Amino acid sequence: MTLFVSQSSASVSPVSTGETLKLYIDGAFVDPLAGETFANINPATGALLNQVARGESADIELAVHAAKRSFEAGSWAKLPMKARCQKLRDLGDRILARRDALAMAETLDTGKPLSESLNGDIPRAAQNFHFFAEAAAQLSEECFTVDRMERHFSVREPLGVVGLITPWNLPLYLASWKIAPALVMGNSIVLKPAEWTPTTATLLAEIFQEAEIPPGVFNVVHGFGTAGSGEALTRHPEVKAISFTGETVTGKTIMKAAADSLKKISFELGGKGATVIFEDADLPNAIETAVKAAFRNQGQICLAGSRLFVQRSVLAEVLPQVLKQVASIPVGDPLQPETRMGSLISAEHYEKVMRYIELGRQEGQLLAGGTRLTQPDALAKGYFLEPTVFINLSPQSALCQEEIFGPVLPIIAFDTEEEAIHLVNDTPYGLSASVWSQDVNRCHRLSQEIRAGILWMNCWFARDLRTPFGGMKASGMGREGGRYALEFFSEFKTVCYRYQ
Ligand code: NDP
Repeated sequence: MTLFVSQSSASVSPVSTGETLKLYIDGAFVDPLAGETFANINPATGALLNQVARGESADIELAVHAAKRSFEAGSWAKLPMKARCQKLRDLGDRILARRDALAMAETLDTGKPLSESLNGDIPRAAQNFHFFAEAAAQLSEECFTVDRMERHFSVREPLGVVGLITPWNLPLYLASWKIAPALVMGNSIVLKPAEWTPTTATLLAEIFQEAEIPPGVFNVVHGFGTAGSGEALTRHPEVKAISFTGETVTGKTIMKAAADSLKKISFELGGKGATVIFEDADLPNAIETAVKAAFRNQGQICLAGSRLFVQRSVLAEVLPQVLKQVASIPVGDPLQPETRMGSLISAEHYEKVMRYIELGRQEGQLLAGGTRLTQPDALAKGYFLEPTVFINLSPQSALCQEEIFGPVLPIIAFDTEEEAIHLVNDTPYGLSASVWSQDVNRCHRLSQEIRAGILWMNCWFARDLRTPFGGMKASGMGREGGRYALEFFSEFKTVCYRYQ
């Protein structure tokens, strides 16, 4: 398969040439001022994919000023909403037109199955642009009438320059989830993608260039988070808002850094999702979904069902079925169409997940997995981990409390509904849970008692992009999605008219 073939002669693709991935500032691909680069490694093979421009605070300075100039010039911000929506649809179409190249880039950067990138990540990225074009077109403003002579209008305005900081697990999917609403509301953007997954952000910059989005409206500054371009973005006084998806601990650091310049913030943070199977559940469906929820994307999904609670009366029936399904997950070469689990993102992350597995061996009972796959030889340099299942862990164990973000599933038995509710809520996180029971009244009770931003009853991962998305407790601040994201990326101005 040919990779990274630029589909437009107008593009000056640094990706297609296999050269260093550059920064995209003011409508051009540029080298970082300090001239430093870092290596982008394919985690499935250990091969060097490309060098990446290492942006620093001086590059953020350039990008923010380019963004500010474009904002003040109004070449994008002052376009009619209808025209901006039309451009978003065009961007979505262009992503779909490049689906194969984008999917391959995502898989090479992340180690995730190509089928997942092709059918999940990239179509969803396109959908984010299409969806926010529709959502913004429907957005209304308000008029409060005092009497025939006095009316108060509340109108939305863009914020100006906004900073978007994104993680590596769903790189283009999550970046576009922020870019599309920020863009359609008229802001200018500086994006800092995760250092491990820089390629699709660069390809997206090419798409913006081809689509003739005015220079400075969309900028990409690669680099490191801590003490790098990420941190510089969070401190820059001209950046009016930060939308961040990543670890809870990073969110806390960003909040402190953003405080001095009183930035608006939106945080989508870590999770420790639960799947809860009651004895009256549709067991085959519940089990199949619980396994998917735990191991999709190698367990590297914030919404993963990373704890499985099973009512004790059906544990003996559920457990062998779970193990049978886990054993049948094809793990291996991400490029093979039948693969369902690929490589973890990096050596560092693999070490972290293995530390949890070692702890699990000491504190509980390993039922499946736990080892790195190194055969056939082609897998030896990747970070392929078998889907791993534990039982007999205390709910207070680190494996049940902390976000592992890998293919590790503790199974915990419970007796009563009250106990299940307590167990689900008993972590610092509050992002998501999936409850399985055919008793609608029970589902309703749990929907009221579980402290999480997203609850699924007899399903998992179903999304309607109009709904507010985000976490409670340590899982986030604010909501994105639908009008909530459009509100975040704009602010109200109230104008009162007194007629003569
Ligand atoms: P990190 O928090 O490590 O990094 C996320 C981004 O923040 C990266 O671009 C990173 O740069 C950057 N960053 C790191 N430190 C700083 C800093 N001090 N200032 C500014 N930017 C910084 O998260 P991961 O990339 O490891 O992603 C996994 C996490 O994301 C998990 O906790 C997961 O739950 C969460 N997540 C949450 C979702 C949600 O919707 N709630 C969805 C998806 C993931 P660099 O890459 O250089 O470190």
